[in-house]
Amino acid sequence: MSALVLDGIKIAQEIRSEVAAEVKSLSAAGVRPGLAVVLVGHNPASEIYVRGKVKACEEVGVYSEKLTPSESTSTGELLALIEELNHREEIDGILVQLPLPAQIDSKQVLLAVDPAKDVDGFHPMNVGFLSTQRPGLVPCTPGGVMEILKRSGTPVAGREAVVVGRSDIVGKPAAMLLTNANATVTICHSKTHDLPGVCRRADILVAAIGRAGMITCDFVKPGATVIDVGMNTITDPAEFQRFFAGNAKREETFRKKGSTLIGDVHPEVAEVAGALTPVPGGVGPLTIAMLMYNTVKACKMRRGRGVVELSRA
Ligand code: NAP
Repeated sequence: MSALVLDGIKIAQEIRSEVAAEVKSLSAAGVRPGLAVVLVGHNPASEIYVRGKVKACEEVGVYSEKLTPSESTSTGELLALIEELNHREEIDGILVQLPLPAQIDSKQVLLAVDPAKDVDGFHPMNVGFLSTQRPGLVPCTPGGVMEILKRSGTPVAGREAVVVGRSDIVGKPAAMLLTNANATVTICHSKTHDLPGVCRRADILVAAIGRAGMITCDFVKPGATVIDVGMNTITDPAEFQRFFAGNAKREETFRKKGSTLIGDVHPEVAEVAGALTPVPGGVGPLTIAMLMYNTVKACKMRRGRGVVELSRA
């Protein structure tokens, strides 16, 4: 048996099309959603992510503005910039690309973002809204996990869900969203006893760990839906062989690039799971699609227009 592949690229494209249609009708009514992306310094990975976000804005018709304070910016200077963005009417979303340079107090900066413009959903006010099931902005990656489940017709209510990872940006909000969707949820972390045994209870297993291929068949109940949030880069040829020996397509990419991307789920899990998100092409593409969705949602909430929930139509 080989697991059904849950195609994140296709689902992300569906969401982007829906968002683009929404932006078109808002723009026709004289309202254009706007996103400000703050990129401090020159972290190469951050520069790539920000480029992708700005490009996505162009594609769906969202106005975007990139602000690039220097590497040596102080917390005070960044707070002043956020304050200015908080007051600008045409800016609906503010995204501060992480990580910030060491001299900056990241928590203070994220706390300064107006919760109504917090399109990353990291502000404690939005965390509270999620936990108390009030309308708010939900973190993009866990939001994307839920869209994959909904749009692939995976039942959630009443089922056992196990989330491995308890970070503020993925694990905890994913667990909260699954709880709100009436799953019975267990959160695991590095101190969990008998992790494989706990994971084997899951009808829906979400891996958000950051360890290449850690979730092997031993962790997976036959037929379970496995959502792999992990994004790990492999450069060691021996490690590559351990995961991908005999996979001609991967071998070609590895030879050309000297690296490949792998999730937290071992490729062998495809033989046991009922459905599985690939890496790349699974959860990853959803993150930017959900950022676009959140920007439009923030615009509609701020400017008093009804919010249509995704995939509920
Ligand atoms: P994180 O903040 O480092 O959190 C990792 C979590 O995994 C922690 O809760 C940690 O437990 C747990 N963990 C680590 N080793 C473990 C082990 N051996 N057994 C059980 N649990 C273990 O990472 P994150 O930001 O949540 O990201 C997780 C992964 O998702 C990374 O690969 C990241 O690159 C990826 N990611 C992908 C996207 C996307 O767009 N697809 C977005 C964000 C993140 P403790 O709490 O006990 O330390």
